[in-house]
Amino acid sequence: MRVMAQLAMVMNLDKCIGCHTCSVTCKQAWTNRAGTEYVWFNNVETRPGQGYPRTYQDQERWKGGWELNRRGRLSLKAGGRVRKLLTIFANPLMPSLQDYYEPWTYDYDRLFSAPMQADAPVARPRSLITGEPTKISWSANWDDNLAGDPSPDPVLRKVSGQVTLEFERAFMFYLPRICEHCLNPSCVASCPSGALYKRSEDGIVLVDQDRCRGWRMCVTGCPYKKVYFNHRTGKAEKCTFCFPRVEVGIPTVCSETCVGRLRYIGLVLYDADRVAAAAATPDEKDLYEAQKSVLLDPHDPEVAAAARAEGIPDDWLEAARRSPVHKLIFDLGVALPLHPEYRTMPMVWYIPPLSPVVDVLAGTGHDGEDAGNLFGAIDALRIPIGYLAELFTAGDPGPVRAVLRRLAAMRSYMRRLNLGQDPDESIASAVGMSGA
Ligand code: SF4
Ligand code: SF4
Repeated sequence: MRVMAQLAMVMNLDKCIGCHTCSVTCKQAWTNRAGTEYVWFNNVETRPGQGYPRTYQDQERWKGGWELNRRGRLSLKAGGRVRKLLTIFANPLMPSLQDYYEPWTYDYDRLFSAPMQADAPVARPRSLITGEPTKISWSANWDDNLAGDPSPDPVLRKVSGQVTLEFERAFMFYLPRICEHCLNPSCVASCPSGALYKRSEDGIVLVDQDRCRGWRMCVTGCPYKKVYFNHRTGKAEKCTFCFPRVEVGIPTVCSETCVGRLRYIGLVLYDADRVAAAAATPDEKDLYEAQKSVLLDPHDPEVAAAARAEGIPDDWLEAARRSPVHKLIFDLGVALPLHPEYRTMPMVWYIPPLSPVVDVLAGTGHDGEDAGNLFGAIDALRIPIGYLAELFTAGDPGPVRAVLRRLAAMRSYMRRLNLGQDPDESIASAVGMSGA
């Protein structure tokens, strides 16, 4: 066993209101510079939606990236302009600026400089890249008001009245995203210059700006599309987990400013010897459990001894024991990784949104969190379990269902306590939370 420490994050999606405070404060701190106008180290996606950059989850579109990355390695010998040209030929599978969005501002001067006219002048959009007037054709969160309609059965829709059913089954939620600081980071593996690296002390993945040669293989190689190219400096940039802040004991900017208080940061311990085997787990459906099995229990004396042998200090061990991330993943069992099927072993996990539990199809409209309804109603969530499973468990609904039941039980249990009623122990014990 080779014990290593990793800084990780869990986000509770039921609490995200999509205010983008995290994105804006992160941008002010890290990407408020020329060349990074389009860059959001932290972005908040509307789900269901295309994401940012759009369709990044369509891995078929980026297929071949690994092969091309390997070919890119061969072209390293070339330099200067030739290398830049080779980059474009060897690595064409990068998102375009239009996939991210073309950042713009408004031509406010026109409000004051327009000639006298019958109508009030308007400030038209102007590209921040070219400075020219532009048409805004797409940007992140373009899908805000569309929502999703999962009504799968056309017959059922007809019988139930299509309009009502579509309206009642429409759903949306927000998914905040940063770099996953993966245990098996493909951005690091794909960089021909060795500029990307994973810090051994806390697992933060960084770009060495001096070594970066602008190949952008990391942009192609990261399945989460969380490395960006600064078109002014010609270097790759990415989320740094705010390392200058966490090193002095203060949280990341996105966590500190989050309006919903939904981001939990903590240390976890993992067995570095088991990462490669777990990432290569043959069946995608087993990847969530495989990833979980790599994480270690810091309360286990054997793990503690191995951690000390690797030079992990006692106060870090203590921090791992008190880590809310460990608690949410293991003790409460309510956090899941994003797209484990990408096999990079992501270290930002999510508590899936429970949303209102309303049994639409049965037409009862009952509150599914009440005792007795809990287990029947959990499959009739507004957000389809299948959709959440595609995001968090490579399509396996089992673990998502178990997490949602537990969340429903916690909500019901706490609601009764807060109302001064006796908590229903039958609910708590049914999901293994007795005395929670
Ligand atoms: Fe690298 Fe992408 Fe993983 Fe971040 S999310 S560590 S950029 S592979
Ligand atoms: Fe969601 Fe918090 Fe970001 Fe607001 S600040 S969008 S609540 S993650």
